[in-house]
Amino acid sequence: MLYLDNSATTQILPEVRREMLPYLEAEYGNPSSKYYPLAKHAKQALETAREQVAKLLNCQNDEIVFTSGATESNNWIIKGVCNPLELKNMHFITSQAEHTSVMKAFEYLETLGAEVTYLPVDQYARVTFEDLQKNIRFNTRLVSLIWANNELGSLNDIDKISKLCLEQKVELHVDATQMIGKQKVDLENYPGITYLSLSAHKFYGPKGSGVAFIRKDDQGISRPLIPLLHGSQEKGYRGGTQAVHDIVGLGKAAELAGERLADNIEKLTELEKVLISKLKKAFGAELAFNNDSKNKVPGVVNVQIKQFNNELLLKELSAYLAASTGSACSSTKPSHVLAASGHDLNEIRHSVRFSLSPYLDIKELELLEQL
Ligand code: PMP
Repeated sequence: MLYLDNSATTQILPEVRREMLPYLEAEYGNPSSKYYPLAKHAKQALETAREQVAKLLNCQNDEIVFTSGATESNNWIIKGVCNPLELKNMHFITSQAEHTSVMKAFEYLETLGAEVTYLPVDQYARVTFEDLQKNIRFNTRLVSLIWANNELGSLNDIDKISKLCLEQKVELHVDATQMIGKQKVDLENYPGITYLSLSAHKFYGPKGSGVAFIRKDDQGISRPLIPLLHGSQEKGYRGGTQAVHDIVGLGKAAELAGERLADNIEKLTELEKVLISKLKKAFGAELAFNNDSKNKVPGVVNVQIKQFNNELLLKELSAYLAASTGSACSSTKPSHVLAASGHDLNEIRHSVRFSLSPYLDIKELELLEQL
């Protein structure tokens, strides 16, 4: 089967699985226990993973908090920046093309009295700098924007956005879930990014494991965020015994994503070219591209195939081909990202997202010739 749904999830790399296995077998210690070797090993494994992630992002180890994934990180950061009792006087900014976990978290804050501005986006789901600039107010508590869009791969201009937020002294949360392994994320170059969310299974690690980056303040002090899960672990930020095996996998996946970045970008770019030429051959004039060809991460192609309804086509081909009509997290509804980008329902009903992996053999794409 040709798997072209890597924006939904990726395989676990053999190197990652190998690192995880001891922590599913003999090394079952609780990292919060004390003194005996089993506990110390588990603690050490957590701290190694923290270091691997911090190295990937170029930040400090103690700015990394392990979560269950980007959904949790997004929810925690958005709901955690202020006390619910203060929300009535608070303003937040996000966009109309965010991941569902961000949209829903903000909709929830609105029910508690917060005011949320959902910035419009261009035809490729990007916000404009000017729109953001004119919407920042004295009481804007947080700006939350996606870096690489999960449906179109488009990149928001986080460089300019983070400089603006820094200048305006507004905290910025960036959902970078679709960036890892496709573009460099060097947090030293973006001092305006206060918070960042990641999920391991988008970069060849295990599901149910993710990261919240919480930047320390100017004094080097950890920021106060209200926990989603109260408890003692992760410096009180996120209670609950850590899933050591998953975190070990996350750390290894982060290490490999960093080491292989240049090669993987090259491979994804090459695969994307071949994929596009095969799709053009298969569907000819009936094909229209929803994604931009530049300012995007490599390996994501979103097209309208005019002669086919997307659901029916993907169902028909499901024994041979895995692709999707949009985000797996909102696949039961027409894509709000494409709608916000100006596509009508008919166009959305014909849109398919193909997302590639650098671990795909280019020959496998030949299967598309048989469509
Ligand atoms: N943000 C983005 C941009 C995503 O693509 C995803 C996964 N579809 C998430 C957040 C949520 O990740 P998870 O389901 O692993 O929590």
